[in-house]
Amino acid sequence: MKIHRGNFAAIFGGACAGSEAASRLAHCGVYVAVFEQHTLPYGKIEDGLPKWHIKLRDKEESKIDERLSHPNIFFIPNTRLGRDVEFEDVVRNWGFGAVILANGAWRDRPLPVPGIDDYVEKGLYYQNPFVDWFNHYHEPGYTRHHYEVQDGAIVVGGGLASIDVAKILMLETTQRALAEKGCQTDIFTLEHQGIPKTLETLGLSFSDLGLRRCTLFYRRRSEDMPLSYIYPDPTPEDLEKAHRVRQKILSNAQQKYLFHFQECCKPVEKITVGERLAGLVFQRTRVENGRVVSVPGSEFAVRSPLVISSIGSIPEPIPGIPTSGELFNIPDEDTGRLAGYPNVYGLGNVVTGKGNIRDSELHARKIVHYIIENVFHCHAGAIEADRMEDDPAAQAEVERKGLLDEGRVQVILKRIANLQRKAGFDGNYQKWVETHRPPRLENLIGYSKEK
Ligand SMILES: Cc1cc2nc3c(=O)[nH]c(=O)nc-3n(C[C@H](O)[C@H](O)[C@H](O)COP(=O)(O)OP(=O)(O)OC[C@H]3O[C@@H](n4cnc5c(N)ncnc54)[C@H](O)[C@@H]3O)c2cc1C
Repeated sequence: MKIHRGNFAAIFGGACAGSEAASRLAHCGVYVAVFEQHTLPYGKIEDGLPKWHIKLRDKEESKIDERLSHPNIFFIPNTRLGRDVEFEDVVRNWGFGAVILANGAWRDRPLPVPGIDDYVEKGLYYQNPFVDWFNHYHEPGYTRHHYEVQDGAIVVGGGLASIDVAKILMLETTQRALAEKGCQTDIFTLEHQGIPKTLETLGLSFSDLGLRRCTLFYRRRSEDMPLSYIYPDPTPEDLEKAHRVRQKILSNAQQKYLFHFQECCKPVEKITVGERLAGLVFQRTRVENGRVVSVPGSEFAVRSPLVISSIGSIPEPIPGIPTSGELFNIPDEDTGRLAGYPNVYGLGNVVTGKGNIRDSELHARKIVHYIIENVFHCHAGAIEADRMEDDPAAQAEVERKGLLDEGRVQVILKRIANLQRKAGFDGNYQKWVETHRPPRLENLIGYSKEK
């Protein structure tokens, strides 16, 4: 590939948001370095979205592959911001016109019960590593986490991901109980048909399995669960409709996967036996004018061999990146600009916190539009064009300001090549992803994904 003078951007995180931003910049003639902490760039599509979403996962991963295959994009796997490259060094010394943080939300919000984190993996699991385990434990050689699913677990949460956690628990415990009865079934059929229907085809009822089921505890009411979006300033009718939709989503999930649900209670204390967490003390709440109000004296104990906390994900702190509370300090979601850094931007889940593919992509699109117009001075229409590299007018715009000369571009490329070599990556993106894509459970068990 012939290298010209040009603009260079760095993106940390190559998943939905990062790849969308990279592709749009690349089509505008900008060179883009995509640094990815993992071997593969798929982020939460691979390690969050539960593995029964076969078609959605494959579709989103193909989209990411297509975007990152542009010749202006230089992919750098196994390279983590804050460990393998330093934030200040990247921002100040590499020569990037824009540094983009598309690194998502990979840390679980801590469960607000004093001292509970002493019991992580001793009766307490957090959602992010738990779902990673569920998605990958069938892979030969998987060692990142070793989790044991227990019947009668407590799930603390309220969002869509916490319903997925309750589903995983119900699917796993049901499959195990069926296996003990000599009935083989697979997680995909159980998920697709639901537990009652699968049991019916086997001539069994749920009570035959002798399971206690897991329970999802939520600190607000069922209609407050953030399972559907409510636009700002809703009318009373909009609000009522959204509440009904939320209750319907929850009740459909409960009918198909049979988990219990308790609203208006929040964990306040841990129950321990020896070295292990053995349950939680909850306190009842009420919702008053949108606020959660504790009800003193309403505490009750729930004993359980396993607690899974699924109360939201936040960005992992990275040395040098200013924060505001538990988030990166990005005061304006519309520009995504990091406080104190004129050329650093955040986009996708790291900013929106919404845990939704489409929201991540739309946010990436909005911010990159801003960056293209205001940093790289490419005309706005160029963003929508399909192949910008063939458009001389757009190229002229791109080159209007802030171009690095060929020598400086070569210096960045050399640094990139060093990191790629360290990561064992030879620059062939397609070959890399094909070689490293993990074995899929559906292929191992011969399940047809055309369901
Ligand atoms: C259980 C669960 C179920 C879900 N179900 C759905 C669903 O049904 N539908 C839906 O639309 N969405 C769903 N989502 C949410 C969706 O998967 C995410 O919102 C979306 O994938 C986020 O994309 P992103 O690119 O913003 O972030 P991420 O996918 O988190 O990507 C961030 C990337 O940055 C990388 N990275 C992180 N830190 C660093 C670093 N320091 N240096 C370099 N790279 C770094 C990560 O490895 C990752 O590749 C679900 C999520 C979960 C957890």
